[in-house]
Amino acid sequence: MKGRVVVLKEYMKPYVIEEYDVPDPEPGAIVLKMTQAGICGSDLHSWRGDQSPDLRPMPPAGRAAGHEGTGTVFRLGPGVTADALGRPIKEGDRLMYTAIKPCNHCYQCLNGDQNWCPNRGGAGEAGEWPYFTGTYSDYCYISPNQPVFAVPDDLPDNALGFINCAMGTVTEGLLRAGCKEGDYVVIQGAGGLGLNATAMAKNMGAHRVIVMDRLENRLQLAEQFGADHTINIEEFNTPETRKRRVMELTNGRGADIGMELVGRAELLVEGIDFLANGGTYIEIGNIVAGPTVDFDPSTLLRGKKIMGSTMYRPSLLPMMMEMMAQNLDRLPFDKIVSNTFPLAEVNAAFEQAEWDNRQTSVTRAVLVP
Ligand SMILES: [Zn+2]
Ligand SMILES: [Zn+2]
Repeated sequence: MKGRVVVLKEYMKPYVIEEYDVPDPEPGAIVLKMTQAGICGSDLHSWRGDQSPDLRPMPPAGRAAGHEGTGTVFRLGPGVTADALGRPIKEGDRLMYTAIKPCNHCYQCLNGDQNWCPNRGGAGEAGEWPYFTGTYSDYCYISPNQPVFAVPDDLPDNALGFINCAMGTVTEGLLRAGCKEGDYVVIQGAGGLGLNATAMAKNMGAHRVIVMDRLENRLQLAEQFGADHTINIEEFNTPETRKRRVMELTNGRGADIGMELVGRAELLVEGIDFLANGGTYIEIGNIVAGPTVDFDPSTLLRGKKIMGSTMYRPSLLPMMMEMMAQNLDRLPFDKIVSNTFPLAEVNAAFEQAEWDNRQTSVTRAVLVP
């Protein structure tokens, strides 16, 4: 039996769809039948080859594409009977898997920081067993060191695709920054990351969440996810006016937590400037090496901290899914996905999701096999 795999052969060139035999899972592994795979900012960077091509040269046969998504159990490898929490799983069950592939042997992994594992695996070379190593495919091979978790019955399929990327990443950042009751949280960017961050910050007890973006439809969605205030950066169109607005909305204190979820280097300087003394700035969006900013270290002396964050510890997945299930009646997690494309239309989907220098209204596009 064969399945389709979307392969990137050359940066900035259309994807090619190839067919491979669906593998028999080795002991401890699982083959998922994909139901949905998201296109996030990092996929657009991967397509363009922004992430240091010298560090990550394209393999001769190309690379399987996609990293986030969800599916149902197609085949369980020998010995697999339960998820990471010991709950029985069987063919047909919906599973959330950890999109990072930690080695589970290095210092960071043993210390519980799997998202910082220096040996994290990624999508493999096209045509190399087990073939289905990306998520833009009919199937996805979950290797023995990738934890999986059963999906709560009441979570709808269309709210699952971004959990193991956007939701996980912002939740990890907020937890590491110590988000808590009473905090003022200011979020730069109301895309898939920003909407999830808004919901999670409120869930952690943030007193006031303020969201910035240039698109009114995204800001309205942020309000539906619990934003107390929004700032349209077309209206407040300089860092100075935005800082003044943040100060007004935080009773002159500034943000206890600022989050960069856009991917523009200059937002770091602006964000540190509107932090309260003692506040923490979480850098998440700038995933491409290169852009730099001028930065005055003396601005940190009153306890301001900068932390970077990427992906998440696998143990957070069940908590996030439960939080979403508990809040479905008031938070529109099923509206984060704005565009759905069949897998065969992957190139059209990328064209639509392409956002560089012209933000689009797409919050999340997904591919459905
Ligand atoms: Zn490791
Ligand atoms: Zn992603």
